[in-house]
Amino acid sequence: MDIQDVVQKAQEEQLRLVRFLYCDNGGIIRGKATHASRLASRMKEGIGQTFAMQAFSGVEQLAPVEGLGPIGEYRLIPDPDTFVVLPYAPKSGTMFCDMRQTDGSAWGACPRTFLKRMCAELAREGMRAEAAIEHEFYLARRENGAFVPADNSLCYSSIGLDQQAEVIDAILGALESEGIEIELFHTELGPAQQELSVRHADVLRAADNVCLVRETVRGVAYQHGLYATFAPKPFLDQAGNGAHIHFSLWSNDSGNSTNLLYDPGERGGLSQLGKYFIGGILYHIRALIALTCASPNSYRRLLPHYWSSAYGVYGFDNREAAIRVPSLFNGREAASCNLELKCSDHSGNPYLALGGLIAAGLDGIRRKIDPGEPQEIDPGNYSDAERERLGIQRFPTTLEEALNELEQDEVLTEALGPLLSSAYLAVKRNEVAYFKEKTPEEEALQHFYKY
Ligand code: GLU
Ligand code: MG
Repeated sequence: MDIQDVVQKAQEEQLRLVRFLYCDNGGIIRGKATHASRLASRMKEGIGQTFAMQAFSGVEQLAPVEGLGPIGEYRLIPDPDTFVVLPYAPKSGTMFCDMRQTDGSAWGACPRTFLKRMCAELAREGMRAEAAIEHEFYLARRENGAFVPADNSLCYSSIGLDQQAEVIDAILGALESEGIEIELFHTELGPAQQELSVRHADVLRAADNVCLVRETVRGVAYQHGLYATFAPKPFLDQAGNGAHIHFSLWSNDSGNSTNLLYDPGERGGLSQLGKYFIGGILYHIRALIALTCASPNSYRRLLPHYWSSAYGVYGFDNREAAIRVPSLFNGREAASCNLELKCSDHSGNPYLALGGLIAAGLDGIRRKIDPGEPQEIDPGNYSDAERERLGIQRFPTTLEEALNELEQDEVLTEALGPLLSSAYLAVKRNEVAYFKEKTPEEEALQHFYKY
């Protein structure tokens, strides 16, 4: 797609508004919309936005970040390849944007540009990345100010599929019309908890897709009188919502790209390069998690025995490990070889999460970091003494702790760059301070309809 294609399509569809969206440091999807009559010039010039928005937190407060105050602005420049007509909002379309300086050059506080930079680093090493996300969310109604699950379905229950059949069909139809390739759908453990898997794609497109899926699921559910929430722990006594990341690395030779994680001679088909990549992720996991599990609410989800992972280990088909190495599918072993990061949820910014994952994994490859032995049991079943002997690390148990780890992690902060890392830390610390004064119930309620 180029600008002309987008303008033509917008005319054919008689669009009135086209949204220029982005995901901010607080993990919130925001944006402004242009009237369709101004689309062509807006796509070239961008829409102006104050610098301060990259210091704006998820609780609508301006965090103190040098240079990101009321003075100065950047431009939201949309990527025409992300253009879709929105099936849930009349005469509306949307695109996802880069943040650029007024002279058109890259801006250091832009998360999407950060992910592009990490892709370029991979390309310099002859690699490219693909990712697919498992989207878990609840469907709820609002009753007397509280959110209540839309049904009482059991895990994988077909009754749940029947009860929500209409809204599920509308959600999937909307996603199809937007060009999202759907792989699987099922009811999850919690009442009215759903899971939607989307086909893997180039990592930048995968991050754009995360935003589009979140927008579309929420938008279509709302049309059906329901609230869809991707918050990590919207109901404190129920299963959390993960956003597990399936990740693979490919050689970037055009035409004949091979899966670099795969080696048929190794256990589970996992190549030495794949082990180093895991080594890097586990080495940085306590800091990386500040990007992949990015809200105070995230840390209520990451408990032992909840299948969300709580320890920095990997294992073959081990669903309590931070990284599961999934078993391969017969007949398409090379194509199906991937890694699944469990400690990830939708309160994060997908561009930051995937970019951080690449930075950590690349460090593992460059420094040949050994991930140690795979874990064959639930690491939560070891005693503290055994975990210590085996060198098994518990994740940070609060966002505050994770942010302190991130601040100390030179690989990740250097990859993010000074402006983005300081803005991110300030925004997230603002959220930490805000929720310190609140009860868990208030926290869950306030996270409910943000992501
Ligand atoms: N809901 C779990 C989580 O918080 C994941 C359950 C599963 O898919 O295994 O990550
Ligand atoms: Mg699941």
